[in-house]
Amino acid sequence: MNTVVNILQIDVEDWYCDLDPVEWRKHEPRVETATKKVLSILRETENQATFFVLGHVAEKFPGLIAKIDSEGHEVASHGYSHRRVSDQTPGEFEEDVKKSIAILEGITGKKVKGYRAPQFTVMKETLWALDILKKQKMEYDSSIFPVKTPLYGIPDAPLFPYVINSQENGYGHGLTEVPLSVYKLPILGKNIPVAGGFYFRFFPYFFLSYALRKLNRKGNIAVCYMHPWELDPGKPRVEGLKWYHYYRLSAMEEKFRKLTRDFRFISTREWIKNERG
Ligand SMILES: [Zn+2]
Repeated sequence: MNTVVNILQIDVEDWYCDLDPVEWRKHEPRVETATKKVLSILRETENQATFFVLGHVAEKFPGLIAKIDSEGHEVASHGYSHRRVSDQTPGEFEEDVKKSIAILEGITGKKVKGYRAPQFTVMKETLWALDILKKQKMEYDSSIFPVKTPLYGIPDAPLFPYVINSQENGYGHGLTEVPLSVYKLPILGKNIPVAGGFYFRFFPYFFLSYALRKLNRKGNIAVCYMHPWELDPGKPRVEGLKWYHYYRLSAMEEKFRKLTRDFRFISTREWIKNERG
């Protein structure tokens, strides 16, 4: 166990939330059981996390959100409808975020301070979203992945948490941005994500723990994330979800247990508070 304290983030959505919302009601909700599994592992390993909760899930399972809060974790926003930011107008985005904040604050009675965009879609063309988050009194955003993928990412974005200075990029002045961890490949100099989700299932644990230890040895934190449905290998196979929604789900629980035993994690808000007061 090393001493650097890292950030853990859980994106609480149901297994079908990457499908078109008109499909959602056809499917059996499984998020409650899967999220309780995450909570029990965090309790056993004495770690804390930020749960970015989708408004749709909070509306259906308010008791689950109250439980997350009562176990000392941070409840933050993953928006309401799981639409990619890049598929929304600024007006639609603001309504979506506002709706999710109202639901979450109505359950916990606490101010929501952070936001995670569906599929990390705060990108160069959607940086305007940062101004809307500021307007909604958020303190931080954690949606920028410093990588290049076909779906998301800003490859030249800073690799570690920073306070946004609007003179540099024009948007979100004063908001703290918490990027997801990447590992810079030696020789190629390319950033590859090691933070969680699919990448966490794809790479062997020894490589992930090596990459995270390397970050920690240099005094840098790791920012890791996962979805409760990744601990649910029995989730239904449906058309519309891609192979990467199912890839090596059965190995995930053991990996997540190892990660939470080998590294120390706290919530995003707690980390920012420790750093900046
Ligand atoms: Zn999501």
